[in-house]
Amino acid sequence: YAVGDHAYGMLTQGSEKKTEEVKDAAGRVDFDMFAYSKEQLVYVVEYMFHSLGFVDAFGLDEEVIVAFLHALRESYNNVPFHNFYHCFCVTQMAYCVFVAAAGEDESVFLNVFEKFVVFVSALCHDVDHPGFSNSYQINAQTPLAMVYNDMSCLENHHCSQAFALFKQPGCNLLAPFSREQYKELRRLMVKLILVTDLANHSAAKAKFDAAVADGTLDLTARASRDMLCQVVIMACDISNEVRPFAIARPWADRITAEWGNQVAVEKALGLPFLPFMDAETVVVPKSQIGFINDILHPIWTSLMAVVEPVRAFEANILANREAYAVELASLTPAQK
Ligand code: 5GP
Ligand code: MN
Repeated sequence: YAVGDHAYGMLTQGSEKKTEEVKDAAGRVDFDMFAYSKEQLVYVVEYMFHSLGFVDAFGLDEEVIVAFLHALRESYNNVPFHNFYHCFCVTQMAYCVFVAAAGEDESVFLNVFEKFVVFVSALCHDVDHPGFSNSYQINAQTPLAMVYNDMSCLENHHCSQAFALFKQPGCNLLAPFSREQYKELRRLMVKLILVTDLANHSAAKAKFDAAVADGTLDLTARASRDMLCQVVIMACDISNEVRPFAIARPWADRITAEWGNQVAVEKALGLPFLPFMDAETVVVPKSQIGFINDILHPIWTSLMAVVEPVRAFEANILANREAYAVELASLTPAQK
């Protein structure tokens, strides 16, 4: 493609209609990511940079966006769950939230700068994930645990890797920003990637909910705006069950497979392991119902309380919980 013919033209390979279909599908939670190659998804994300107004608002360079996305894609590992498709899912869910809330101005939702930071944070939030969790890093005393002193080892690494990517030749997405803007972007991006550590989830959610409940969530104040950005990325990070069951279900098998690999290593090394990660004993539908009830539905409910249009996404969550209940009921006693 030629720069200027937006690179997402790569998606066409044919009729104009198909490009229009992809653009339309990109803003919906039923987007079927598995129907696309990683290369095609790069161009779907590139389209989103245009569609969200980032290119115009910040004067981003088309070639840099594409080079950055390619470097990012190469920096995600081929692990069962925390791969480039997961990166895409979280980013695309943020895009769905932005599209749903497109009518909301800065007094009730995020401004274009904050959307950009949330979007880029979503892209980078699991970069170079090794497929082994923080608990493994700590128990196995890995180099990541040593570097980050057991504190959000993975999330610190993802964030550090993200800023290293910007320094790769031709990949500096942040080049157009002033020193002041860079400082603000980096401050918020670090905060957003670190809050994706589930160990930080409950405290961040409780603070947000309390502010909403007592009327002190004040979107003229930086602290409140930061909290809203955090809740958006937290919700999107764990949003597989916001998608139609046919798309959500394989992701539950993927996390089970990744955790199963980890527990096999933990058992072999004589390390402690978490029972919910043990593929030999876990009952996927039961585990997903618990995850939906305890974590996923509550964070989406927090977001809905402030971002009204997101309510449209709740039906899928409830339908998936029901589908898992049906699946669970169909298992033999031995399988449960
Ligand atoms: P991430 O590692 O993707 O940044 O953070 C999300 C974490 O939430 C995952 O590591 C995993 O622990 C949990 N999670 C996300 N989606 C699911 C899910 O569908 N089921 C379960 N059981 N856990 C999930
Ligand atoms: Mn993630």
